[in-house]
Amino acid sequence: MTRILFWIALIVLVVMAVRSKLKAAARRSQMAPPPQQPSAPAGEIEAMTQCAHCGMYFPASEAVRADGLDYCSPGHVRLPPQ
Ligand SMILES: [Zn+2]
Repeated sequence: MTRILFWIALIVLVVMAVRSKLKAAARRSQMAPPPQQPSAPAGEIEAMTQCAHCGMYFPASEAVRADGLDYCSPGHVRLPPQ
């Protein structure tokens, strides 16, 4: 009799474990974001420009403009273009 009770308890435990695992997996798949989501939209990619003196590339928003040319820093504005 004890053996039967042991097996019933074991089966109940296994069923409960499997159920909780299935619930967790279902919850994970619901919460997971769509797999193909672009990390950076095309509109957020910043234009790059080149310093007229040293040739370094940097974001256009940080450019120092002088005489129609882009410079990386105010110090390079005073130096001649290369
Ligand atoms: Zn420069």
